[in-house]
Amino acid sequence: MKLIIGSHVSFTKEEGLLGSVKESLSYDENTFMFYTGAPQNTFRAPINQEKTKEAKELMEKEQIDIKNIIIHAPYIINLANDKDEDKFNFAVNFLKQEIKRAESLGIDKIVLHPGSHVGVGEEKGLENISKGLDLVLDKKEGPIICLETMAGKGTELGKTFEELNTIIKNVKNNQRLMVCLDTCHLNDAGYDVTKFDELLDEFEKIIGIEKIGCIHINDSKNEKGAHKDRHENIGIGTIGFENLINIIYNERLKKVPKILETPYISIDGGKDRTYPPYKFEIEMIRNKKFNEKFLESIRNYYK
Ligand code: FE
Ligand code: FE
Ligand code: ZN
Repeated sequence: MKLIIGSHVSFTKEEGLLGSVKESLSYDENTFMFYTGAPQNTFRAPINQEKTKEAKELMEKEQIDIKNIIIHAPYIINLANDKDEDKFNFAVNFLKQEIKRAESLGIDKIVLHPGSHVGVGEEKGLENISKGLDLVLDKKEGPIICLETMAGKGTELGKTFEELNTIIKNVKNNQRLMVCLDTCHLNDAGYDVTKFDELLDEFEKIIGIEKIGCIHINDSKNEKGAHKDRHENIGIGTIGFENLINIIYNERLKKVPKILETPYISIDGGKDRTYPPYKFEIEMIRNKKFNEKFLESIRNYYK
C-alpha cells in the first residue's frame, strides 16, 4: 500500500478545492488538509461548486482518494466552555455548518481541537465538549469529527487518551468520532513518541487503534512534557527524523493519512514573507533520508 502523505495547504475563495489539489500536487503529495477559510476566524465564503467539480476530476486523474482529505475546523471554536451561552451556541452552529461544507465538498473527516475549559474545570469542560458534540452530531451518518490530541497548553483538554475517551464515550453518535494524533502535541503533552509502538499499545487499550483517523506529523521545538505546542520542521526538533520516520511508516497506521503542519521558512530571517517547507520535507520522508541542508535548499528554491 502506498504511503498516504500530505500537508496543510490553502483553500481560497477564488480557487476553492481545485487550488488546494494543485498546491498539494506541487509538493508531490497524495492527500492534504485545509481550513475552509481563515483558521483564526469563522467567516466562510460559499463553496464554488464548479471548482469543486474540476478538483474532483484532477484528483481522479492523479489518484488522490478524497476519503483521505481532511478539513481542519478553526481553532477559535471552543466547545469546552459554556459560561457564555451565545459563544457555545455559536460554536455548535458553526460546526454544523462546517459539516455541511464538508458534505458539499465530498470530504469525510474534520479535525477539531476539543477545547479549553478556561476556568470551569476539566471535568465540566469535558462534559461540555460531549454536550456540544451531541448537538453537532445529531444524525447517525455523515462526516466524522477527529478530535485532536492536544499539548495541554493553558487549560486545553484532550491532552491525554483518557480525556479523549471520556469525551467520546459520552457522545451518542460516537461512531462519527475519531482521533487525530499530533506528534508535536503528544510529545509536548508528555507522551514518549520515540517508543511509538508502546504508545499505540496504550491507545489501543484506552480508545482503540481503529479510531485513529488522521495523524499530524510535526517535530517539536520543546522537550517532552513542556505543554507548549510549537511545531518544528521535520528532523530539526526534539523528536528527530528517525523517530518521525518510524511513526510515518508504522505498519499499524498504513491506512491513516499523515499530514505535515511544520512551520514556513523565512528566506532572509525576516518574518515578512515565509515559504512552505513541504515539498522538501515530503522528499526526505519518501527517501527516508534526512538532508542536513534542506533548509538551505528551501531558501534557494524560493529565492
Ligand atoms: Fe490542529
Ligand atoms: Fe495538529
Ligand atoms: Zn499544534
